[in-house]
Order: sequence, then structure tokens, then C-alpha cells
Amino acid sequence: MSNKIKGIGASNGIAVAKVYILDEQPIVIPTTKAKDVQSELDLINSSINKAKKDLESLQAIAKEKLGEEKAAIFEAHASILQDPAMAEEFVALIKEQNYNASRAIDEVAKKYIEMFGAMEDVYFRERAADIKDVTERLIRYVLKMPVLDLASINDEVIIVAEDLTPSQTAQLNPNYVKGFACNVGGRTSHAAIMARSLEIPAVLGLKTILSSVKENDILAIDGSTGEVELNPSDKLVWEKKAKKFAQEKVELEQFKNKKTITKDGFDKFILEGNIGSPKDVAAVIENGGEGVGLFRSEFLYMDNDHFPTEEEQFEAYKQVVVDMNGKMTVIRTLDIGGDKKLSYFEFPEEMNPFLGYRAIRFTMDRKDIFKDQIRALLRASAFGPVGIMFPMIATIDEFVGAKKFTLACKAELEKEGVKVGSDLQIGMMVEIPAAAINAENFAKHADFFSVGTNDLIQYSMAADRMSENVTYLYQPFNPSILRLLKMTIDGAHKHGKWAGMCGEMAGEPEAVPLLMGLGLDAYSMSATSITKARSIMAKLTLSETQELAKKAIECETSSEVLELVNQLMSTK
Ligand code: PEP
Ligand code: MG
Repeated sequence: MSNKIKGIGASNGIAVAKVYILDEQPIVIPTTKAKDVQSELDLINSSINKAKKDLESLQAIAKEKLGEEKAAIFEAHASILQDPAMAEEFVALIKEQNYNASRAIDEVAKKYIEMFGAMEDVYFRERAADIKDVTERLIRYVLKMPVLDLASINDEVIIVAEDLTPSQTAQLNPNYVKGFACNVGGRTSHAAIMARSLEIPAVLGLKTILSSVKENDILAIDGSTGEVELNPSDKLVWEKKAKKFAQEKVELEQFKNKKTITKDGFDKFILEGNIGSPKDVAAVIENGGEGVGLFRSEFLYMDNDHFPTEEEQFEAYKQVVVDMNGKMTVIRTLDIGGDKKLSYFEFPEEMNPFLGYRAIRFTMDRKDIFKDQIRALLRASAFGPVGIMFPMIATIDEFVGAKKFTLACKAELEKEGVKVGSDLQIGMMVEIPAAAINAENFAKHADFFSVGTNDLIQYSMAADRMSENVTYLYQPFNPSILRLLKMTIDGAHKHGKWAGMCGEMAGEPEAVPLLMGLGLDAYSMSATSITKARSIMAKLTLSETQELAKKAIECETSSEVLELVNQLMSTK
């Protein structure tokens, strides 16, 4: 390999250190028949007990280092170990087909891994890694192979591995493990999530890193950009990068508690956090978020084995609204379908599910399901300011229909004597080009817009956001996207409404100056991006961003736009 490769930046930070090659002895499953059924069954049981003990102590280590919630993954692992359906399948293979214990576990594990691995939804696909993690541990015990103990590393290293399992990641001591680089994995894998909590830089999805390194090599990784260099030729470059990163981190700390204000004193922009569950609110508050600009309610549905009841939903929404303590919470109604599936509901087979029966198209068709959510949202609005937001709106009729339905539910609740908040807004996502183009008319009916650039860009460019072959078409800086944004924002303002953005673009440092210039009011992003956005706003005057946006709209290409932004930022 060239000594520079690029992977997926999964956890920010720079690290340069000796490699620690995590190349566990591969498991070879013997095909010999079980001699004595009972002793194979006993072997499985004693191995399960050993694995369970490991998981308990891993959970304790993780709890101390990562907190209760992250440690819960090991409880989930323990429950896989105790899964009666799986155990029955082990026993059946041993009793009926004379399989030895390791083969029985391997066979059953493969079936489940394949099943989860084939699911379209990324969340479920990644659960296959959990099953693999647990069952491999079990098999190692059955075969009396060593189970690696990463907690004992006491030298400064960067771990290089095919993949890091959640249990391995939880054992890492950040005092010694300076980073890790893996062949597989992406930003949403458990290893990435845990790395971010531990603040260990990580680059994943490197494909060939494991076969490229040898003992005593030095590796340099940049967890923000995904750049990796083996035996770096110029160490100074990396030292500078590390210094810059550390400095920036300290500088950004102070922006957690600062006001969002431009250099010339404009203080109407709002920086908010995107969340997927009530527990994510803590990070939004910790990073100085001024609201929740997007609560993706579909996770409540996806992490369940049934459509959550009105009561279950009410509890979750209320918790967020209460925790946000008077700050706005925008909750998006169920955005299911496309890549997001439910284990307990079969969607019709479609050629193009992203363009099919999903989000508002589904909920307005299944008002029985929708009603529980709308009632729960309305009830939660009694505890603080709430924005109800409909996803995937394409036509005025869809929005007006959904709004009418919401108001009918509100009237019904009030008739029942149930309190609904007075500070309630009903708005919509702008993520279909048709909605952006017709924004001015939508703004007559909607209280607010929030632009979902992840989808708006995929639909504008006709480029599937899940396909790694067309990622070059994800072009937030393309002038055609900027023009759609301008139409949306101007459309809202014309009718005195506010326009926000909750797609990934809102948190991209190069996008912030442009969005300011276009007049975007609310910027919702992952909690850890908030301070950076606030620091950028503090460096810019409103008029220079307006000038920038004006020029950018007239550009022909995305790179011309980026050049304009970089020119402006280089003077700051
Ligand atoms: C978007 O499309 O930009 C968005 C925020 O929604 P999601 O990523 O959940 O589709
Ligand atoms: Mg979307």
C-alpha cells in the first residue's frame, strides 16, 4: 500500500504511536462428532458461565469509563447468551445431529448473523456484530483458546485490527490506547460510538490496514478526516495537526456557555441538537444547545417489538420537553419506510422504497397508528414549547391534511379535558425539491420549515444516499442546492415564519457562513458540532456572509462555492 490511505473518520482527534496488531488466532471449528452428548452440553454450560462472568466485569469496567448507558451493551450481550431460542438450537444440533459444542454454536450463530446482516436497516445490520462478538467469545471458551485482554495494554499504542468488537472497545484504556484503525466499520458502528465517548481518535473502514502493518511500525491517524499514514515521513506535520486539534478543543470549550452571536452583534441565530432518544438530551445541554431541532421519533418505533402506545410515546416526549426546560423541542412524526424498517410490520415490496410508501405517506394512510403519536405529542406540549414536524411533505394537500388531522386530535383531547400546550407549532421538513420550490405557498400554512438536506440532496441529485458508488453526488455546496435553500428560507420569511435545517449540512463548518448569509434561522446538528458552529458565527459579520451567499448562488460548481467560503474563512 501507499503509506497514506483514507478511511472513515469515526472519532475526532490526532494520534501518532506504535501499532498494536490485534490479530487474534483465528477460530477453526472442528468437524468431529460429539462423543458424549452430555459432556458437550456441560461444556456449553460452563463456557456460557465463563463468558457471562467476563461480560459482568466488562460491564463494570465500561460503566466506570463510559457510563451506565454505554455499559448496557454488555447486558444486551448477556441476554444473547441467555437467549432460550438459541440455546434450544444448540442442544438440538448436539442431540439430534451429534454436532460438537463449538460447531453447534457456530452453526446457530451464523444463521442469526446472516439474518441480521441481511437486514436493510443499518441499526439491525450492526446488531449482527454483537451476536458475532458474544458467540466467538463462547466458542473460544469451548475450544479452550485464549480470550484477549486488551485492558492490560500498558504502552502507548494505536490498535490496528480487522474490527473492534464492543467488548474489546470497552476494555481500552485511553491513557495507553491513543487511537485505533480498523479494516471495517463506519460512523454508526458501536466501536465508533464508544470511541467518541472515550474521546479516542479512530479511523474505520480502511479495508487493507491490517495486512499493511507490521510490529514496531508507527502509525499516524486523523480521526476527523479519516487520513492515515504509515511510518510518517514528516512527523512535524502530524505534530502540528495534533497541536492544532488540542488548541481548537480548548478554544471550543468556552463556546459551550457562550451566546450565539455574530461578530457584529446579530444574536437571532439558534444552534440546536439532533436527538434519537430522550437520553441524547444530556449531550445537547452539555454542549450549549439552545433547543432540540430534530427528535427522530422513528427510533422509538425501531427499538421496540410493537408500535409504541400513546402512553409510552407520551412518556418519552414529555421527558425531552421537561429536560429542555422551556427551550423549543421539534419532534418529527414517524419517518419510517425507505431504509428504516420495523421488525413487527411488513412494508409492501417496492422497487424504490426511498421513493415509496414512507413517512407522511404511510402515517396519513394509517391514521390508526398516527393518532397515538399525534395525541402523545399534543399531550407532551403541555410541558413546554413543542414543534410537531411532518417528514417528506411533497404537496400542500399532504401538509394541510396532516395539520387538519392534528388539530382534530387536539380538539378531541380538549373535549376529554386533557391539557394541550399553548406554545405549539406545526411545521414541516423540506426534503423533497417540490416542497422547496413551492416553499412560499407552504409557508402560508406551516409555522416553520426545517430543511432535511440529507434527503433534499439525494432527491435533487437523484443519488441514493446509501450507495457508496455515488457519494460524489452528495454536494451540499452545489449552487442548485443553495438555490433551493434560498427559495425555502425566503419563502418562510415572506410569511413571517422561521426556517431551520436539521440535515447534516447544518453542522458542516464550511456551510455555516453560507447558511448565515442565506438567512437560515435555526441550525440543528449533532451535539458535538454546536461549539464549532458557534465559534464560526462569532468570527463573521452578517453582511460579509450575505455577500458570500450572493456570490455563491451565482457560481457554477460546488468547488467554486467552497473556494469562496475558504477564501473568506482564511482571513479570519
Ligand atoms: C434529512 O433528510 O436531512 C434528515 C434530517 O432526515 P433523515 O436523515 O432522518 O432522513
Ligand atoms: Mg430525511
